[in-house]
Amino acid sequence: MTFAVHGLAVARGIAIGRAVLVASSRVDVAHYFIQPEETEAELARLQASRAFVAEELQRLQQDMPKDAPGELAALLDVHLMLLQDEALTAGVAQWIHERHYNAEWALTTQLEAISRQFDEMEDEYLRERKADLEQVVERVLRHLKGAAQPVAAPPPRAPRQQDLLLDDTLDVPLVLVAHDLSPADMLQFKKSVFAGFVTDVGGKTSHTAIVARSMDIPAVVGARSASHLVRQDDWVIIDGDAGVMIVDPSPIILAEYGFKQRQGELERGRLARLKNTPAVTLDGQKVELLANIEQPTDTRAALAVGALGVGLFRSEFLFMGRQGKLPDEEEQYRAYRDAVEGMHGLPVTIRTVDVGADKPLDDRRDSAHLNPALGLRAIRWSLAEPAMFLNQLRAILRAAAHGQVHLLIPMLAHAGEIRQTLELIDKAREQLDRRGQAHGPVRIGAMIEVPAAALSLRLFLRHFDFLSIGTNDLIQYTLAIDRADESVAHLFDPLHPAVLQLVAATIAECDAQGKGISVCGEMAGDPAMTRLLLGLGLRSFSMHPSQILAVKQEILRADAGKLAPWAQAVLDSDEPAELLGG
Ligand code: PEP
Ligand code: MG
Repeated sequence: MTFAVHGLAVARGIAIGRAVLVASSRVDVAHYFIQPEETEAELARLQASRAFVAEELQRLQQDMPKDAPGELAALLDVHLMLLQDEALTAGVAQWIHERHYNAEWALTTQLEAISRQFDEMEDEYLRERKADLEQVVERVLRHLKGAAQPVAAPPPRAPRQQDLLLDDTLDVPLVLVAHDLSPADMLQFKKSVFAGFVTDVGGKTSHTAIVARSMDIPAVVGARSASHLVRQDDWVIIDGDAGVMIVDPSPIILAEYGFKQRQGELERGRLARLKNTPAVTLDGQKVELLANIEQPTDTRAALAVGALGVGLFRSEFLFMGRQGKLPDEEEQYRAYRDAVEGMHGLPVTIRTVDVGADKPLDDRRDSAHLNPALGLRAIRWSLAEPAMFLNQLRAILRAAAHGQVHLLIPMLAHAGEIRQTLELIDKAREQLDRRGQAHGPVRIGAMIEVPAAALSLRLFLRHFDFLSIGTNDLIQYTLAIDRADESVAHLFDPLHPAVLQLVAATIAECDAQGKGISVCGEMAGDPAMTRLLLGLGLRSFSMHPSQILAVKQEILRADAGKLAPWAQAVLDSDEPAELLGG
């Protein structure tokens, strides 16, 4: 039966395909596709972990003190039985054989399938065995994780589709449905071929949504119970424009969305022709369109759409999902150098590490702190870990010997933080000089993403060569709305008068002092905001490559001179959204 699940639209377009459910687990689980020829080795890896856990459970039984309650021994029996359970073993093997999931992914997928059966059981005792099964699977996952090789990069292809139910065609598009995906998970999936994404949680500017947008595939987040309503292999449609997932669509609905999908492709084809057209308004104002990237390889996508440089390299993606082992100076240097060389002489703005809040170092969210977004995040963490920060600064300065590099600092608010940061940059330079290692000049900029920074521009302009407005955090912190929380997503409003005042004042002050100013938050990549930002005087926009051509199209149609008085009226309004069509 056809039904729809509503969420937040985060990345445009229509995807039609089969659902791949990624089960959530309390253990961080790597998800990747194995090569068909690796199937036997993967099954053997799984078997070894199961054997280890069986031995572990038997040992626990043997070592149990004589006076231990009898239920404990019985429980271990149940765990051993579940470990050998045919439904688990055969199911997991099937996911590995037929879908080429890695062992961990296959295990959590099958756990989810069996859990649903448990949930539907009448018998309370049996229903409660679900928790035991979860514990057993966790033991196996922990062993797999401990014994695992470093996570192999998934091959750049979709898994072979040997469809079990209806379809005999190969290469059916796959759509990923999950309760939640960490930004690190998303990065893994970026290397695979999924046609779309849906998650139960997340806001429009959560980092998971941002990575989904960078993949340029339809995505919906905050779809509440999507992962419970959809089953493995269900046919689904993702409408990334409307923020809707349609499950089990009827032939008429499929035909309608198939048509929409083709229309979208035609539109993309039209936009692609703008790649080499300079971004100049009707009245001759030149606009700089830059790319936001997460990895050095993203420079290819940036050049493919004619970006004039990288306006934001989110370096933290090099640090995430590594089980605490941070990249050393050498590894970082190579990554930054690759990005610089990848841009062939165009400038690359490298932002120092911004972990914390919804970008935890490890896959799991930081639940230890009540307010991680207000905690030890971004520059605060860097200043608390000076050795780590100096590693990064030296790596960036060394990469600057290979091309134009701008150094961007996130989340600054205090004069003391600015002073310490600049001192550490000097120190990193001195260290390189002492080592006799080559490094290059950098322009140093600050992100304006905390209201306190936007309200103390004089301080920032005294110390920095340029500023870049991070609207995602500026909105979050101005309006006290968690950007990753779908339950307050309707209040995350780029057009709130307070936000607009801060953005407008920052642009105006930089212009007045002749300092470079750019916007690198998601607002810069939203074509619905382009005219307003132009009217406020912005001439440098940084966004995911997938947005650049649509924004350029808006610029080519705009008359910046005429937009200025209109933008002023928007600023003066109590309800700016009402004027935005005008
Ligand atoms: C922002 O806050 O707008 C920004 C660009 O940084 P991030 O989204 O990585 O926090
Ligand atoms: Mg930010």
